[in-house]
Amino acid sequence: MIIDILTLFPESFSYLSSSIMKRAQETEKIDINIHDIRQFSQDKHKKCDDYPFGGGAGMLMTAQPIYDAVKSVRKENSKIIFPSPVGKMLTPEIAKNLSKENHLIFICGHYEGVDQRIIDLLKPEEISIGDYVLTGGELPTMVIVDCLARFIDGVITQESLSEESFSCGNLEYPQYTRPQIFEGLEVPEVLLSGNHQEIAKWRKEQSIKRTKDKRPDLI
Ligand code: SAM
Repeated sequence: MIIDILTLFPESFSYLSSSIMKRAQETEKIDINIHDIRQFSQDKHKKCDDYPFGGGAGMLMTAQPIYDAVKSVRKENSKIIFPSPVGKMLTPEIAKNLSKENHLIFICGHYEGVDQRIIDLLKPEEISIGDYVLTGGELPTMVIVDCLARFIDGVITQESLSEESFSCGNLEYPQYTRPQIFEGLEVPEVLLSGNHQEIAKWRKEQSIKRTKDKRPDLI
């Protein structure tokens, strides 16, 4: 999958060059390219924002640099995403569907957002990462990219995916690693028993209990 990210702040994306996302790129599961929208501005000072018509607080990103940046990377099969608080809420299903695309283009809004004509002309899929407002689309883009990458074959193991919170509707069971005793707290006996049937039973019970306690709305 090719992912082109259009942003005024390319330096924000170092997260995507570390850990699992780094490996996903090294093993060519994903090809991520970050583009500086400012390079596309036709303004002689490379300005990319302006005051909103009708007044109001803050600045808006102007349409021309974004439009030209999209044109420079868009292909026939591209899907354009605009992370936005007015979009539909990100879910594992949305991320899974996005992971099947060949080419994604992310437009990162900033300041008060973007000129509405970008939305009207390019008709991106608008996706929100939660009912709160961040200062820019850079973090939401990384959240969506990270989330969809997990569904791409070979990025993480299938086992990790199937046992994860939300995958079967419940939250994941508690997990432990070495040492066996930490600050007086012991690892549950059953996990040391080697009895895989009993371990699976315990995990299922814990998963249901945890979901009831922490997220009863999921039951
Ligand atoms: N004025 C906009 C509003 O009230 O809906 C908020 C603009 S926000 C300060 C700037 C940019 O951050 C947005 O254009 C969007 O790209 C991104 N953003 C902020 N919160 C977001 C969220 N919850 N989900 C996805 N993107 C978000």
